[in-house]
Amino acid sequence: MASTPKKTTHDELVTAIREEQDGYTPCMEAPDLFFLRDDQTSYTDEKAAKAMCGRCPVAALCLDYALDNNEQHGIWGGLGQRQRMSLKRREWDRTRNGKPLTPRQKPMV
Ligand code: SF4
Repeated sequence: MASTPKKTTHDELVTAIREEQDGYTPCMEAPDLFFLRDDQTSYTDEKAAKAMCGRCPVAALCLDYALDNNEQHGIWGGLGQRQRMSLKRREWDRTRNGKPLTPRQKPMV
């Protein structure tokens, strides 16, 4: 029987932020850039938010957490919700077809 892959937990993400970032992440400087308010339909500055993720040492773990937990809102690990869904679809296709993602198919984080 195939084992179920381990999901990244929020505790693991928080622990990595504490240990690798001394409790600091770039998104703390401007949390409003990373999530939409109820009255917003688009991000204030999505490029800036993603650039901040690009400087974050825990970006890969942050993205893993969002993917593993099917986060529907916000920018995590440099990807917005649509990009995460696209990545999941490609991962699903890769798994189904047994082909690894090429470097061009992998997200730039
Ligand atoms: S990757 Fe982006 S959203 Fe995740 S902790 Fe780092 S700065 Fe924040």
